Amino acid sequence: MSDKPDVSVEQGVCIVCGHPYDTGTILLHVPILRKSMERQAITAWGLCPQHLMLYRQGYVALVECDTESGNPDTGAAVRPENVHSTEPVAYLKRERASAIFHKPVAPNQPCMCVAPGFVQKLQQITQHA
Ligand SMILES: [Zn+2]
Repeated sequence: MSDKPDVSVEQGVCIVCGHPYDTGTILLHVPILRKSMERQAITAWGLCPQHLMLYRQGYVALVECDTESGNPDTGAAVRPENVHSTEPVAYLKRERASAIFHKPVAPNQPCMCVAPGFVQKLQQITQHA
């Protein structure tokens, strides 16, 4: 076994869809840590390329969060530990989400918590409109 440092690509997990993606960051593995690190290390929560694109287009993802047992209110920023289900997810334009939830959506907020079942109700409403 070589003592040379090894490298791998850092992976993030998309907070909207839960899929891993490459962050583009190169991680340097020093030999002493190698046993505990995999070739691809998941080290961050973020947005995959698809959801980053939607965010840049002005959309906010509605992610169902466990609002009953946890702290987050509807419209709160999504924290990984509060995500109830990674699907279904709905998208609204930032201004529209602000109007519906009666609270401003920060420009740096890519997704917001909604109660479980909310996305399905929203889909039913929009299908019958
Ligand atoms: Zn994603």
